[in-house]
Amino acid sequence: MIPQVDPRASYREDKALLDAAVLRVLDSGMYIMGQEVEAFEAEFAAWIGARHGIAVANGTQAVEIALRSVGVGAGDLVLTVSHTAVATAAAIRACGAEPVWVDVADGHFTMDVGLLDETAATLRAGPDGARLKAVVAVHLYGAMVEPGPLLEVCRRHELKLVEDCAQAHGAAWDGKRAGSFGDASAFSFYPTKNLGALGDGGMVCTSDDAAAELARLIRQYGWKERYISAIEGINSRLDPVQAAILRIGLVRLEERNQRRRAIAALYDAGLTGGAITTPAVPAPLTHAYHQYVVRTTDRDGLAARLRAEGVGTGIHYPVPVHAQPAYLGRFDRHCRTLRNTEAVAADILSLPMYPQLTHDDARRVTDLIRKFQGA
Ligand SMILES: *Cc1c(COP(=O)(O)O)cnc(C)c1O
Repeated sequence: MIPQVDPRASYREDKALLDAAVLRVLDSGMYIMGQEVEAFEAEFAAWIGARHGIAVANGTQAVEIALRSVGVGAGDLVLTVSHTAVATAAAIRACGAEPVWVDVADGHFTMDVGLLDETAATLRAGPDGARLKAVVAVHLYGAMVEPGPLLEVCRRHELKLVEDCAQAHGAAWDGKRAGSFGDASAFSFYPTKNLGALGDGGMVCTSDDAAAELARLIRQYGWKERYISAIEGINSRLDPVQAAILRIGLVRLEERNQRRRAIAALYDAGLTGGAITTPAVPAPLTHAYHQYVVRTTDRDGLAARLRAEGVGTGIHYPVPVHAQPAYLGRFDRHCRTLRNTEAVAADILSLPMYPQLTHDDARRVTDLIRKFQGA
């Protein structure tokens, strides 16, 4: 059996270290915040290339707190994609703001920045123009929205930029890491992410001192001093057990991303020339391969055949956010088109991808796909 993901494999590789770290925290008597969390915040922010890291409880709240820390609040409009984890939209809603859907670019899985520009221009000129505040750019699957044009559009329309980096730990553009471009960025440490906790976790990164200060307040009841809320906040703390686990994972992250890239290279080599579309990787992008996603007309047939052969696959995501019951018809007013979003949802398939996947197993996957295609 080849699973699509295998978070236990990473635990097992570092079991002795991880077990010792957990026991160290249990023995410390410090179970909320403290030195372990602060150390991880500093190490992670330095690795990303941001001045500040604010550890939070999960990736959804990382997006929410990042948005609030750059000034997004109730009634504001936030441009983002519908082809993403529902968490992106849930976080916008948690601020009391409303998503405005922007289609993904043709042939890519990330936001069409030209369309972002047009949508922002139309919105600004209309009656809702003053409500338009921010963009959440989602670096999906470990690929990135090209930062240069994105930043230029945000500057021109006076939009704050939050990067949703939940799938992009270690992705980079011209060598500069995802999460270091925007006004703030948000990471998830859900166990299957490139950097995964053994539980929930998240991080806000920013190089803006004021945003960092605000994020820190929001994370813990708005406390500037204990028991005195300066602003209205929430509880979104990362616990020190997860912080200790994540510090070990961070040391391993670049090597594990390299292993993902080697697997992706095998997939590319085994699938190029067939009837399947492999991921497009522009030259300046260092892909983090959170997922390796192909496009194929008979997606469900291929997934069924692979399952019958003991190979797990995934669909990230089968129903775009705008078409899910909770969101359907509610936030479509300013949306131009979602043609590409709807097309990808129908034909994407995520192949097995985790650092411990063996090269033999990766070749077995491509062999099975070629056989299915009759090649
Ligand atoms: C996983 C994910 C999140 C949310 O992370 P959680 O830690 O599960 O709350 C947000 N955005 C994207 C794109 C994700 O993949």
